[in-house]
Amino acid sequence: MSDQSTTPPLVVLGIFAHPDDPEFSMGGTAALWASQGAAVYYCIITNGRAGSNDPTQDLDELVRIREAEQRAAAQVCGVRDVFFLGYEDGTLEPTIALRRELTRLIRRLRPDRVVTGDPTAFFYEGYINHADHRAAAEAAVTAVFPSAPTRPIFPELLAEGLEPHQVKQLYITQLGEGALIVDIGTTIETKIEALRQHRSQVDPGDGSWIREWAAGTGRAAGIAYAEGFRVVTLVPEPAPPAEPA
Ligand SMILES: [Zn+2]
Repeated sequence: MSDQSTTPPLVVLGIFAHPDDPEFSMGGTAALWASQGAAVYYCIITNGRAGSNDPTQDLDELVRIREAEQRAAAQVCGVRDVFFLGYEDGTLEPTIALRRELTRLIRRLRPDRVVTGDPTAFFYEGYINHADHRAAAEAAVTAVFPSAPTRPIFPELLAEGLEPHQVKQLYITQLGEGALIVDIGTTIETKIEALRQHRSQVDPGDGSWIREWAAGTGRAAGIAYAEGFRVVTLVPEPAPPAEPA
């Protein structure tokens, strides 16, 4: 029997553009993995300053509010820490500087699994994907590969003592079906409670529309509540040892 206490926890890093993005796209999954012992972290790239159209809103205050909301939501899901990069909300670009910052974080935390959005998604049914979501996802995917595992890329990070790191799996968040479906039946209420922390942005009400979303994602797979991902496997799991004949 293996001694569970000596097994290092699975390390997961979710990289997103805005405060509240992780709760919408992976809140139930993050809570599930955390409950199974994973060390889950989030990186939020922008400061959330564009999260209000009210001309009387103090936007500096909004930045502080949204950071606090994101920390509270992460805590609800058992996420260990949130890193805020502070880029301007609404005009994000997948620059080399952003790629370098994400590479630095990946080499520091050394996650097994990185979760981010879909950089190719311009449209979802009925709406246009926010350009910040695409930019964040493009920079994150590029940081996962080739930047993080390739020694000569960003030599200045080596000078900081940050050795190359190979992420094992990249999870791309998806809406709807046709993807890896994670059963969030045990954590759907946690996801709703986490979304409830983003008071300046969203009102989950009694949570029924969030349950409906999750039910739609799980329907084809026969799962009550789900979140969907496309998984890119970068390091295959070792095959289990063969059963003795
Ligand atoms: Zn967003």
